[in-house]
Parts: sequence; C-alpha cells; structure tokens
Amino acid sequence: MPSDSIHLRFLGGAGTVTGSKFLLEVDDRRILVDCGLFQGLKTLRNLNWARPDYDPATLDLVILTHGHLDHCGYFPRLERYGFTGEIWGTEPSLAVAEIILRDSAKLQEEEANHANRWGYSKHHPAKPLYATEDVPRTLERFRPQAAGKWQQVSPAVAVRFRPVGHIIGAAFLEVDIDGRRLVFSGDVGRPGDPLLPDPERPERADWLVIESTYADRLHPPADPAEQLGQLITESYADGGTLIIPSFSVERAQSLMYYLWQLRQAGKLPAGMPLYLDSPMASRVLHVFDRFPDWHKLSPETCRNMADTIHTVRTYPESLDVQAREESRVVIAGSGMVTGGRVLSYLTRHVEDARTRVLLVGFQAQGTRGRQLEQGIHEIKIFGKYYRVKASIHRLEGLSAHADQQELLHWAGEIQPDPAGVWIVHGEPHAADVLRVKLRDAYGWSTFVPALDETVTLKVPVAG
Ligand SMILES: [Zn+2]
Repeated sequence: MPSDSIHLRFLGGAGTVTGSKFLLEVDDRRILVDCGLFQGLKTLRNLNWARPDYDPATLDLVILTHGHLDHCGYFPRLERYGFTGEIWGTEPSLAVAEIILRDSAKLQEEEANHANRWGYSKHHPAKPLYATEDVPRTLERFRPQAAGKWQQVSPAVAVRFRPVGHIIGAAFLEVDIDGRRLVFSGDVGRPGDPLLPDPERPERADWLVIESTYADRLHPPADPAEQLGQLITESYADGGTLIIPSFSVERAQSLMYYLWQLRQAGKLPAGMPLYLDSPMASRVLHVFDRFPDWHKLSPETCRNMADTIHTVRTYPESLDVQAREESRVVIAGSGMVTGGRVLSYLTRHVEDARTRVLLVGFQAQGTRGRQLEQGIHEIKIFGKYYRVKASIHRLEGLSAHADQQELLHWAGEIQPDPAGVWIVHGEPHAADVLRVKLRDAYGWSTFVPALDETVTLKVPVAG
C-alpha cells in the first residue's frame, strides 16, 4: 500500500547555511536527516539552546550526510531530549563526526570557562551547550552504512548513500518511499578536487532538497598553490606571520597538500617554518589513512603531506609556538575564527601590519571570519577589542562547495522533472538565486522553505 502521508519539515538549514535538520515523516515513521548546529549570528546560535518543539524521543532514526558541525553538532542535545534511535552515516562520515563532536564539546566548555573567568556572559554561571562527557552516548548510536547500497529503514522506506565530494565520507542521500524518490543533496563538492573523487550525481528524484551555499557565485579559476606560495614568500620577506584559520576537515588537508607540492617544487623559503596547530586536523588525516577508497591520495602522499608541516601536538607546545617571534606559517582552527587556537594567534599578531590572515572557506554571517573578510577595523576576542592591522586575504579555488554552475550541472541529469525542489543551506540571496536558476534552466517547481516550514510531498502524477 503506497504511503499517502509524507511530510518534510525544515528544522534548520532553511533561510541560512547552518543548522541543517530535516524531519521526514512517512506514515508513522520519523526520520531526521542531519542534526546540525546553528552557527554565526547570535539569534541563530540561540536556537541551539531552545527546547525542540518536536519530541526527539519519537524519532526512529537520524541519517547523517557528512561530518561537518553544522550537520552533526546537535546530536548530544538531541540525546539530552530523549533520542534513543540509531544514527546512520558512511563510515568515514561517522569517524569525522566523532572528531568534530569531541572538539565541539571542548570548545563549548572552553567558551563557558572563559566567560565565567572574565565575566562577559549574561548567564551566571555560563554553561556549555554540551560537555565532553555527553559525547560517548551519541557515539554509541553510530551505525556505519556502506555507500552505493540500498538499506531498508522500514517496509516502505529505503535509503542509499552516494559519494558527493565535499569532505571525506560526504554523501548525498536517496530515500526511496514506496518506489518514489526523495533526494537530499547534502553539501555538494566540486569536480576536479585534488583530494576527492568527483561527486556522483542523481539520475532520478521525484522530490529534491538541494544546498545553495555558493549558488550566487562562480568560483574564479585559480591556482591555490600559486597564491599560497606568493603569500608565504611575501610574509617571509618582511618577517611577518601568515595565519590561516582553517577548517580541520578537508581544507587543512588541502592546504597540507599544496604546501607539500610547493616545497617539492622548491617554491617555499627554506627558513620558513610551517605549523599545523590543530590536533583535530591531524586526526582527520588519520581518517584519510583509514579509508583509502574515499579519496585520491596514495599512502605515500599522505605521509609526505604530514612530513611537510610540523604538527603541534600539545597545548604547552602551542603556547611555545605562539610566543615565538620568528616569521612563520600557522594553520589553526577554527575556520570561521569562532573558536580554537587561531584566536590566540590573532590576539598576538592581528595588530601587527606584517601579519597576513588568509581565509580559506565559507565565512558565515556573524562570525569573526566574515567580519575580517568585510574589512572590519577592530575585532573582539575573549571579550577584548584588537585593532586589525593585519592584511586579510582570501584563498580562491579551495572551496569545498559547488558554485552556481556546478550545482546546476550536479542536478542536471535528473529525469523526469521532480514534482518539487526545495532550496536549503544558503543565505537568502544565494537560495533565491538557485530557486530562479533551477526553475529557468529546467522548468522545475522550486521553493525556498522558511525555517520550521512543513511541506507535504505529493505523489507525482504519472506521465
Ligand atoms: Zn559541509
């Protein structure tokens, strides 16, 4: 008997990039696709603290498209509100999610401690959203699923993960409901990535939920290695420090890859030390070691990349590196400068005109990364303002997200026309651009859902 009641509710990643959470209800089954944290603007981050108005205890399953924080970071909260089901994802995605969740808990604790010590929080005492001790309960729910194979969720529902580039383990998700197909794009990567195979593409979708992070722009053709090499040479020449706030997953490994290439080609100043001050990024490199089928690097290249750069292991060592006066390159998290060790480097160097800050990924509204990108003259870190005298640069060509053309191409194989397409995971302008572009290019019915909106998925009329 075909399911006659299919509802989809946009609990996050709607009207904004972060907080991806899509509640799929098929008859009496309730499946949450992604379970991300809101990041950036305070009004959004406050949503992480609100009690959900659905009951997590009634969820049968959560499915994870990939291990980024804005897709997996809410798991411990879901657990707190009574979720007892399984969490499905590809094996590398769950490995990445574990690293991200442990780090997220630590950052939440550090932020709360800082706020309590310096008294800059409105809450007394400030509490973390969740703590390190909350994470293992979530990890116990992880059930790795093979990519490319249909997995039965219920008699009416089956799902299949298919590699989509972006980061290691990332997948788009096909949901088969009584022979009809709902596709969640997850985050779509780019063709031609040096680390990851090209994204697979959906051939069929009766309904499509698609991301739009970079749907309003085209990535300029750029050679990241060349730009990186040039900035390093310039920094070395005037004795400055190059600070690269980096996402630990993928961007850090891409940077390591390009640094290795530059060093091999003899294009790095010999005396310029390179530091990776992100324990998390080196842990992610182990995920590359463990899952060779999910990327294009040989074991030897992985080793060479790790050998090119000095990995800072401990916090005391980090303090030591931070205090050095030498000209150097430092890659440190977090990528949007919202937390992590990069903050300590900035407090020391951002007021020095010889410093260069290189932003490498998407900078969400309300983050320090976005402020720097927009040329703000002072920046607040740990409750104190610092003048921004450092020069701010963007590394092009290192994006983990498909641009407008690549998104249109990714969806372009779908036949016949989907009955409905919902644009998510984008700021309002980007989402609206993709709504218009997909409509005009393919004649599809496209919508930008509002946060918390529920839609009913109607059975497409045959023919
Ligand atoms: Zn992502």
